[in-house]
Amino acid sequence: FLRWVTSAGILLIIAGSFGGWLMSQTITKPLKQLSSAAVAIADGNYSSRVDVDRDDELGKLAKSFNIMSARVRATQQELEQIVEERTRELQTAITDIKDQQESDRKKDEFISIASHELKTPLTTLKAFFQLAGREMQPQQKSYNFFGNANRQLNRMERLITDLLDVSRINSGKMEYNFEEFDIQKLLKDTIESAQQISPEHRLVLEESTAVNVNGDRHRIEQVIVNLLSNAVKYSPEADKVLIWSELKGKSVLVTVKDFGIGIAKKHLGDLFDRYYRIEGSQYRFQGLGLGLFISSEIVKRHGGSISVQSEPGKGSSFTFELPV
Ligand code: ADP
Repeated sequence: FLRWVTSAGILLIIAGSFGGWLMSQTITKPLKQLSSAAVAIADGNYSSRVDVDRDDELGKLAKSFNIMSARVRATQQELEQIVEERTRELQTAITDIKDQQESDRKKDEFISIASHELKTPLTTLKAFFQLAGREMQPQQKSYNFFGNANRQLNRMERLITDLLDVSRINSGKMEYNFEEFDIQKLLKDTIESAQQISPEHRLVLEESTAVNVNGDRHRIEQVIVNLLSNAVKYSPEADKVLIWSELKGKSVLVTVKDFGIGIAKKHLGDLFDRYYRIEGSQYRFQGLGLGLFISSEIVKRHGGSISVQSEPGKGSSFTFELPV
């Protein structure tokens, strides 16, 4: 009996080991394959697949796994292609920007040199004209020509001053002399002198508040002059320009309103950019497209802002805001 039990035991052990081996061959092995394929995918090897050719649940799992891994591989390839394309586009854009920056730099350099070089002969010419003007009599034949030449000289001076200002802004060398001043007084004085240059329009100061701001008086005057001269220039059919100032919280708001040609909505966002001018019929108006850029830079340096509201055919309102 004992021998029989021993033989049966040995047989059972052999059967158990065989069963274990069989199980390892039929279940554990494919599972291991699946697991190492999953690890391979996690490591970025998307071409990994499992070779399990069976009809049971494991076979289905392996099939699904292979489908999934093929999809991941396809998506990965698509993504790589997109990234490659975007990188190429980005490189082209960077090259374009660099070319643009280089050409802007050369333009700025040229403008800076040209405006500096023009400034000296212009100052000499102006001095000469002033001297000559004192000698001239209104009844002289050339008096009108002289007046005309003087006006053109003043215009040239304004253009050169704008170009010099832009060079200064670009190189961060625009100087400001801050002091306390009454903005109401500055408005009145500036409007008075602008009125003499623009007799065709009535420049009406509707209301204003006496309030002190801390800023560069001459630079703020330059902003007001720019807005007034634009208001007059771009409203050839109108006969008045309205100006007012008001206090709002801790700021003073100055508005210049004209009844001129107005500005289409699509241009409003670009008006304060350097050299921006609206193409089309507006080209009959002379200018360099710098006045608003300079004005907005000046106002920004004072901690303020500038904005515009406009309707084509009805007119425009430019408002700048300064902290008080
Ligand atoms: P410029 O008048 O020398 O062209 P600005 O920088 O002062 O340059 O103005 C930029 C552009 O904005 C002008 O060319 C013009 O098209 C438009 N613009 C400015 N002010 C007015 C205004 N009051 N009414 C209509 N258009 C204006």
